[in-house]
Amino acid sequence: MSRPLLTDTSVQYIKGIGPKRAGLLHKIGIETVEDLLFYFPRRYLDRSNLIKIAQLKPDVSATIAGRIYSVDMVSGRRKRLVVLVGDGSGFLSCVWFQAVQYVAKVFKAGDTVAFSGKVTVFRGPQMVHPEYDIISGENETDPLHTGGIIPLYPSTEALKKGGFDSRGFRRVIHQVLSSMPPMEETLPLNLLSRHQFMALCESLQHMHYPSDWRRLRQAQTRLKFEELFYLQLYLALQRKMVAREDKGISFQRVGEYTRSLVSKLPFELTAAQKRVLREIRQDMKSGKPMNRLLQGDVGSGKTVVACIAMLIAVENGYQTALMAPTEILAEQHYLTIHTWLEQYGVRVVLLKGGQTAKERQNVLSGLNDGEIQIVIGTHALVQEGVEFDKLGLVVIDEQHRFGVLQRAFLRKKGIYPDVLVMTATPIPRTLALTLYGDLDVSILDEMPAGRKPVRTAWRSEGKRDAIYEYIRSELEKGRQAYIVYPLVEESEKVDLAAATEGYHTLSKSVFSDYRVGLLHGRMKSDEKDRTMRAFQAGDIDVLVSTTVIEVGVDAPNATVMLIEHAERFGLTQLHQLRGRVGRGSEASTCILLAQYPLSDDAGKRLETMVRTDDGFEIAEKDLEIRGPGELFGTRQHGLLNFKIANLATDGPILEKARKEAFSLIQDDPGIERQEHAMVRHTYQNRYKGMFGLIEVG
Ligand code: ADP
Ligand code: MG
Repeated sequence: MSRPLLTDTSVQYIKGIGPKRAGLLHKIGIETVEDLLFYFPRRYLDRSNLIKIAQLKPDVSATIAGRIYSVDMVSGRRKRLVVLVGDGSGFLSCVWFQAVQYVAKVFKAGDTVAFSGKVTVFRGPQMVHPEYDIISGENETDPLHTGGIIPLYPSTEALKKGGFDSRGFRRVIHQVLSSMPPMEETLPLNLLSRHQFMALCESLQHMHYPSDWRRLRQAQTRLKFEELFYLQLYLALQRKMVAREDKGISFQRVGEYTRSLVSKLPFELTAAQKRVLREIRQDMKSGKPMNRLLQGDVGSGKTVVACIAMLIAVENGYQTALMAPTEILAEQHYLTIHTWLEQYGVRVVLLKGGQTAKERQNVLSGLNDGEIQIVIGTHALVQEGVEFDKLGLVVIDEQHRFGVLQRAFLRKKGIYPDVLVMTATPIPRTLALTLYGDLDVSILDEMPAGRKPVRTAWRSEGKRDAIYEYIRSELEKGRQAYIVYPLVEESEKVDLAAATEGYHTLSKSVFSDYRVGLLHGRMKSDEKDRTMRAFQAGDIDVLVSTTVIEVGVDAPNATVMLIEHAERFGLTQLHQLRGRVGRGSEASTCILLAQYPLSDDAGKRLETMVRTDDGFEIAEKDLEIRGPGELFGTRQHGLLNFKIANLATDGPILEKARKEAFSLIQDDPGIERQEHAMVRHTYQNRYKGMFGLIEVG
């Protein structure tokens, strides 16, 4: 080797990897030696504990090794692949129902293979979808591939063709680990010893060559911790950056308008709303900028909380801005807040796309000279040209669509108003700590009194007529209905056509004697507004729509929602949609109409929806089914692309990491101490280019 391998060396310099194989690795994000070392096995196969086929016991997991006798594709009710292995003591059938074409090519009669899995009995011992590792061939005696616990690496067809099957990875990684100087430790030494964490080099060794399960688990724990620790460090620094600013505003008084508004509301605030308002009030009063997340399930009444906070700011002489994720929502907030605050002479305006240059100019100059006290809009509010005279409070509705970046952006503009972030997505605690670790959290955990739970039914196509019949019976009682179609980016055209066609058919046939409206994101915004208002005013009976109604839309007289192709929606999305009904005093129904066949995950989602309407339970389940990246859209959340940590299961490690990271920043806010040099270096490296915000201290 011409130069020593260091962590930032390109994989091309590894012996045996030329430009072509390096190209394959680049495709899966492996560019440097370090990337390769952090490419972890997907699973492990335990060959240290081989037993004989004759000793297999039903329902017990075990690993055997033997010679393949036959590979057969069996057709029948379910097509399956059966691989028969023998080891002299008996025979075992290994069965695949999925990816059969692919698996069929992996094995051939005569190969020696290790299989690992749980044993079932079906005309003799059998394993369904076992892990496997092919032993025969050039490596039959190489301990790298036949030793104790064998790592199995994630791979693709293309990678395998280039020699990167599990064995290929083992070979390369082994070579790297044995020929490079030990990697420098990335966690502070005192932290390592306090938690008895394994050192970094040792952890990497054990990830790729575990000597036993206990040490493998220790290695995993350390690496998970490290991953979560640096993320929390980022969040701790974010929080520090804001908290250190003394430029925050102290809103001294709660004025008479605020008192009057509370007394004039058509309802009594729930205890949860009162508690949350007290928390917000304290933050607003203190001289530090508020940075608070208000979490409350759909319908828990966040808007009125926001409105009261905004009025407090106004009564102290400041302007406030409310950002909503969609124009429809902005519009709706505008209607609500305008109605509530009009009586006090507060000037509330809506800033949105599609306004004439003159209208826009009026809004901008009104904000600039302080004439306008409250502005409501979408993310357009953080764009160029919007300047405030005296911005005191920013409320962001539906945080997960904005992400950490917008908040940071707001601060970058040199503005340090109080920030209240609201979300209806009940976020599991682990995820909240990850995404919003830099925020204080208030929770609305109580629904306004008198709400009836929404009855949820899972139906198939055969029930369509009965469903329409049911909707008609609700309409006859003077109620309204939503019919929702899916719309995803990849198939937007087709989806839009389906919704539009659904609208035409329904308005001409089944619901021809009712007023049917159509709402989708591609309509002009004033058209959308008109439709939405008409539905809210009861001038439309049936609203056919795509998911644009997902968040926030409030029409208490709507008592039934039919969701078409419910199998295509995510769980959180279904929950949000369902939250559009059950907002009034009448009992409501949500019908999930699914098209078959269903994937396992889709089945789990629908089953969960029918079983519970607890937003937190649903969020936990969603996290479990989909993983956090997908839950929040991977694109905005590079933060959540973990190599090894798993938010659904690593809660305790996350809590530890958070505590350590926050206390490090407490002690050494600029990460400047000598003993933290490596932490600083690692941190900057990790978030390089990700936020443009890596300045430490
Ligand atoms: P979300 O938290 O989903 O944004 P909203 O703020 O839209 O919920 O509130 C849902 C509905 O409940 C609205 O019609 C609102 O006026 C009403 N509401 C809010 N607070 C209360 C309360 N304390 N008692 C009764 N109804 C309330
Ligand atoms: Mg809302």
